[in-house]
Amino acid sequence: MSLIVQKFGGTSVGTVERIQAVARKVAGFRDQGHDIVVAVSAMSGETNRLIALANEMQERPDPRELDVLVSTGEQVTIALLSMALKNLGYDARSYTGGQVRIVTDSAHTKARIKEIDDQNIRADLKAGRVVVVAGFQGVDESNNITTLGRGGSDTTGVALAAALGADECQIYTDVDGVYTTDPRVVPAATRLEQITFEEMLEMASLGSKVLQIRAVEFAGKYKVPLRVLSTFEEGPGTLITLDEESSEMEQPVVSGIAFNRDEAKVSVLGVPDAPGVAAKILSAVGDANIEIDVIVQNISSDHKTNDLTFTVNRTELAKAKTIVEKIAAELNAKSVETDDKITKVSVVGVGMRSHAGVASKMFKTLAAENINIQMISTSEIKISVIIDERYLELAVRSLHTAFDLDNTAEA
Ligand code: ADP
Ligand code: ASP
Ligand code: MG
Repeated sequence: MSLIVQKFGGTSVGTVERIQAVARKVAGFRDQGHDIVVAVSAMSGETNRLIALANEMQERPDPRELDVLVSTGEQVTIALLSMALKNLGYDARSYTGGQVRIVTDSAHTKARIKEIDDQNIRADLKAGRVVVVAGFQGVDESNNITTLGRGGSDTTGVALAAALGADECQIYTDVDGVYTTDPRVVPAATRLEQITFEEMLEMASLGSKVLQIRAVEFAGKYKVPLRVLSTFEEGPGTLITLDEESSEMEQPVVSGIAFNRDEAKVSVLGVPDAPGVAAKILSAVGDANIEIDVIVQNISSDHKTNDLTFTVNRTELAKAKTIVEKIAAELNAKSVETDDKITKVSVVGVGMRSHAGVASKMFKTLAAENINIQMISTSEIKISVIIDERYLELAVRSLHTAFDLDNTAEA
């Protein structure tokens, strides 16, 4: 008998019928004698609907009230799933994040989990109940409702598994595992039997939303056995493994391709080529809590001025532009330009450590498709490029083929 934490995403609980199907799935695990804690998302589309309501009410919705609003989506699902389980004759009890006491910091809309009180859950499990917990939410020390950022129910699932010392955390979603790239963009994508935490962390941080990055961080930190599976079909899914050695007999050089459609670019042209200039511009942006991603600086041909370009999340472009324009005026810069029609495409793989030539292969592949590279950024196990968003799908597809990731089994 094991303790299993199962997380079901929005599509998996998108209708009453689907919630009933989830209840039958959970019941099947109970019948095998396992203790089950379930974390659920809001029904599909619900979080977006709630955010749209807030945007109608306020141009910049109050973060505290926004969290009170969007956290209601998950509260609907926990109640319905518990009812469905009771209909099948299984005892179940639902909890909001605050009722469990999932304590977070106070960073509304992107809060981090600090601790989880496991008392209620353990008592229910002991009494033979299925425990159903609302994903994506918690409360801060002062009992204000907080949410964990988009996709945050994954993190609830993994954090519960860590707190309870669960034998496995199963993330049930609308695809049957982690693929070499988003299978909705590249139909020839291949499901991975396993992927290392390190690679999954890169994939998630570079835009693969199959798992929220904080969920992967938690699983790595607390060594939670984590598996991504389909809600709708049986199968082994993908195991996220800590063990790099055994993960694959022959490590492929590139394991996956990630992309992020949410990037936007800010260029400050003609700033003085002097110490402290980049620091002045970038720290002003950072101080406003805007995360900076890729950065490139070029010296101009007169050797007197630089062009500094960096990317931020599209939702923060307007804010970043206002800040940068002010500093640019102080620095006597030539101009500030922005572009929100860009996208970031990255190739990821721990195998890159021991293989040269990945970058040149990537750049040649994009050149062959006439795709211009605007910015480049690399780390030990990834290479990212910023390109025009029009070429996103072409770029991902051709890189997928170039790095031998296409699923030939079904071709
Ligand atoms: P859920 O609502 O279950 O949390 P999400 O929509 O958040 O589901 O995440 C699942 C989606 O992630 C898939 O439908 C797929 O389009 C997308 N995705 C992006 N990259 C990948 C990848 N490498 N492997 C699998 N799915 C991916
Ligand atoms: N419902 C939240 C969202 O749509 C959390 C989640 O589904 O993981 O982002
Ligand atoms: Mg998700």
